[in-house]
Amino acid sequence: MPLDPGRTVAELKELRELTGNEEGAQRVAWTDTWERARAWLREKLGGLPLEHEIDEAGNQWWTLRGASERAVLIGGHIDSVPNGGWLDGALNVVAGVEVVRRLAEDGQPAATVRLVDWADEEGARFGRSLFGSSAAAGSMTDQDELRRRRDGEGVALPEALAAHGVDLDRALEARRQLEGAAAYLELHIEQGPVLESLELPLGVVLGTFGVERHEIAFRGQAAHAGSTPMDKRRDALAGAAKLELEIREIARRVGDGAVCTMGGVVTRPGIVTSVVETAECLLDQRHLDATKLAEMLSNAEAASRRYAQEEGLEVEWERIWNIEPILFDEALISLADEAVGEVAGRSHRLPSGPLHDAAEVARAGVPTVMLFVQSLRGLSHTKLEDTREEHLELSVQALDRLADKAIGGVAGTAG
Ligand SMILES: [Zn+2]
Repeated sequence: MPLDPGRTVAELKELRELTGNEEGAQRVAWTDTWERARAWLREKLGGLPLEHEIDEAGNQWWTLRGASERAVLIGGHIDSVPNGGWLDGALNVVAGVEVVRRLAEDGQPAATVRLVDWADEEGARFGRSLFGSSAAAGSMTDQDELRRRRDGEGVALPEALAAHGVDLDRALEARRQLEGAAAYLELHIEQGPVLESLELPLGVVLGTFGVERHEIAFRGQAAHAGSTPMDKRRDALAGAAKLELEIREIARRVGDGAVCTMGGVVTRPGIVTSVVETAECLLDQRHLDATKLAEMLSNAEAASRRYAQEEGLEVEWERIWNIEPILFDEALISLADEAVGEVAGRSHRLPSGPLHDAAEVARAGVPTVMLFVQSLRGLSHTKLEDTREEHLELSVQALDRLADKAIGGVAGTAG
């Protein structure tokens, strides 16, 4: 049976009916609706010659044995955020279903092919994203902290997992799943405006941004708004305001996709009759290149000290969180470019701002690449999330071509 990309679109709509409501998709991991979606996936692959298993972290796997044991993995997640869109999560695995169907019909592939539905990519219920993929990658190091996590209703994470057959203490045993993995492919909606602005349906992802997150506190002196002359003030907000404008220049100067965001400023005492004594700023900086990310950070630090001096303030930096850039595999990026070129005429390479399961797999040392399909209006994590149906169909075709090329590469034959 030839590939039928239209069937993927029809199945995505079927899944939307089954697991969504008027507010959007409700496939939040570790809920009944999520289980319904996972059972629906099993049904879709039911008649095919595949081995099925659910691993210790709750990841769901289907294996099509090939001539070589080395495996090409096609992955994604079927969970969504509450009131989410119909494509984030589901597109990856549902497109993978179509590709696996086509491969199974063609007989034994040259390399083993495995489809994985990662458990809890979104972290919507317990605030811990990439659960299943980080367990399989062996990078999950926060099990003690996870043991204490509770959802909004007070249910502890280990309890919720146990209700779905997952024992948190054994989650890391899922690591064996990546043994023998020679390539990992993931298709995702872009969730941003770049491909739409270029009028391109598809793009190839170079990797995921490194992130530096800091809290920066400027401290001055609270003083009466009426009695303190302008030249006698130590106004902490002045430092924060200057820094906020400067980070935009820093991102512009460094370029190559650099982004800097001051996502919040809290001022104290925060009343209309006082000069601001402290301004606590939240800064998020991202870049695909580790050196440039470090440069953006040191530029922002230097600027903050300069402004502190100009305004008579003290400034303090505290790191909240960081992650290094994760680069995808050169050879697979080239194959993905070819695949996109064949189905859409033109390819475009771009970084990913959001993290994805693919980043965990790449971190574990498995050669990885992602395909992005255009998102309309750049919207995601809302029921307004959408992609043109013809673009969805092209994305299934591109994933299918890429799978063939990767199988060829892994099996050592011409792709
Ligand atoms: Zn996603």
